[in-house]
Amino acid sequence: MTIFDQTVEGRTGFRLPEEPDYGFEISNDLPTHLIRETPAALPQVSELQVVRHFSGLSRKNHSVDSGFYPLGSCTMKYNPKMNEEAAALQGFSQLHPYQEENTIQGALELMYNLQNSLCEITGMDAFSLQPAAGAHGELVGMLLVKKFFQLKGEPARTKIIVPDSAHGTNPASAMMAGYEVVEVPSNREGRVDLTSLKLLLDNTVAAIMLTNPNTVGLFERDICEIQKLAHDNGTLLYYDGANLNAIMGYARPGDMGFDIVHLNLHKTFSTPHGMGGPGSGPVGVKKELMELLPVPRVDFDGSKYLLKYDLPDSIGKVRSFYGNFGVLVRAYAYIKTMGSDGLKRASEMAVLNANYLKCLLEKMIPAAYSEICKHEFVLKGSRLVAEYGVKTLDVAKRLLDYGVHPPTIYFPLIVDEALMIEPTETETKETLDSFAAVIANIIDEAREDPSMLKSAPNNTVVGRLDEATASRKPKTKWF
Ligand SMILES: *Cc1c(COP(=O)(O)O)cnc(C)c1O
Repeated sequence: MTIFDQTVEGRTGFRLPEEPDYGFEISNDLPTHLIRETPAALPQVSELQVVRHFSGLSRKNHSVDSGFYPLGSCTMKYNPKMNEEAAALQGFSQLHPYQEENTIQGALELMYNLQNSLCEITGMDAFSLQPAAGAHGELVGMLLVKKFFQLKGEPARTKIIVPDSAHGTNPASAMMAGYEVVEVPSNREGRVDLTSLKLLLDNTVAAIMLTNPNTVGLFERDICEIQKLAHDNGTLLYYDGANLNAIMGYARPGDMGFDIVHLNLHKTFSTPHGMGGPGSGPVGVKKELMELLPVPRVDFDGSKYLLKYDLPDSIGKVRSFYGNFGVLVRAYAYIKTMGSDGLKRASEMAVLNANYLKCLLEKMIPAAYSEICKHEFVLKGSRLVAEYGVKTLDVAKRLLDYGVHPPTIYFPLIVDEALMIEPTETETKETLDSFAAVIANIIDEAREDPSMLKSAPNNTVVGRLDEATASRKPKTKWF
C-alpha cells in the first residue's frame, strides 16, 4: 500500500505558521500561467503516517550504517557522526554563496586549512576544492594537462595513457577533455607492464593516469621508474587518488613524482555517498601547474581570507560557487579529529582488514593475485562457474539475502568473474569472520542447489532485476 492509498479526505499533518508582520507588503502576484488551477494531488495523511512512510522507505535501502558494505574501489567506510554534526552547524549550513567575503571568513579559513591539509597528506603544492566528484576532478586534471601543454607550445601531445585495470572514469575523462586514450596492459602480477609502457611513450603522450595502489589492490612498486620514464619524455603523471585508504600517512603521490592528483573526499574522508552524491573531488598540483588551477582560489593575505579570481592562466570556472561545501566541512572535521596518527592508523587497519579477509576467502574463491594486498583485493569467480554454473553475479545477489552489500563485481575488467572486496578499516574481526562464513554458506548452496542462487535475491523487497532495463528505463512510479 502506498501513502496515497492511506488518504482520508480532510486529514492533514501540518499547520502553517501565521504570516509574520514584515512591516511591508509582500507581493503575491505570480504570473497567472504558473498558478495551479486544481490543488496538487497530495496524500491526506497525519504527521505520524508521513514519518512511518519515510522511515519505512529508508529501511528498504542498504547502507553502511545498517550492514557490511565491502564495495571495492568505492570505500563505503564508516562516516563518523561527529562530522555530520560539524557540517550541520548553523554557521556552516546557513551560509549563502553570495555573501560578502568579510562575513564568511570562517568558511574561507576552513577551506584554506583543508587545502593545506590535503597538500600535506598528498605531498602536493596547491589544491582546488571545487570539483564535485572524482570523475569531475579527473576532467579538471585533464584540462590542466591540456592548458599546461598549450602554454608550453606543445600541441602535438594528444594522447593519455591509461592502464587496462583503470577505473572506467579515467579513459572517459581523458576522452571528454579531447584526448585520445591509449591503453597500457597489466603484467601477470597485476601491475603496469613496463616494457609496453616504454613502447607507448613518445612525444605525443601528454600524461599517464595511474592509481596507486592500483585497482587490484597492489602497490605499483615500479612507480619511481615510471615517473622517470614519464618525465624524461616530457609527459605529466596523473594520480587517481579516489581511494587513499591504504597509504595515508605512509606514502604520498607527490613524493612518488605525480604532478596532478584528485582525491575523493566522499570516499576516504568520510562523507556518506553512493547513488549520485553529494561528493567532492579536489585536485592538487605541483608548483608548475599552480597558476592553472580553477578560479576562484581560496587564499590568505596575512590578515584575511579571500577568493581570488584574477588568475590569467587559470582553466577558469569548473563549478558554480566553491564546491560541495558540506562535504568539505566533513572532510576537515575528519582530518582534524583523526590527526596524522589517526589517518596513519586508518591506513594500517584498512590494509590489515583486507589481508585478513583475503586469507579467509581465498581458501574458497581463488584470489586473482596471491601476494599481500593493500586496502582491497580481487577474487576470481571462474571456478564457481566451471564447477557449479554459478556466476559471480549470482553470488553477489545471494549476499543481499544475508543482509550484506555485495562487493564490486566484474571490475577490474582484466579479472574473469571478478569480485573486488574492500572491507575498510572500521569493521571488526567478527564482521569479517561472519562475512567469510556467509561466503562459505553460499558456496555450499552453489554445490547443493545452484538454481536457487540463480533466482537470488529471494527475500529482499525487490527481487532480481533486469539490470540494463532497470538502469536505462527505471520505473520510479508505483503505477
Ligand atoms: C570512485 C572512483 C572514481 C570516480 O569517482 P566518482 O566520485 O564516483 O566520480 C575514480 N577512480 C577510482 C579509482 C574510483 O574508485
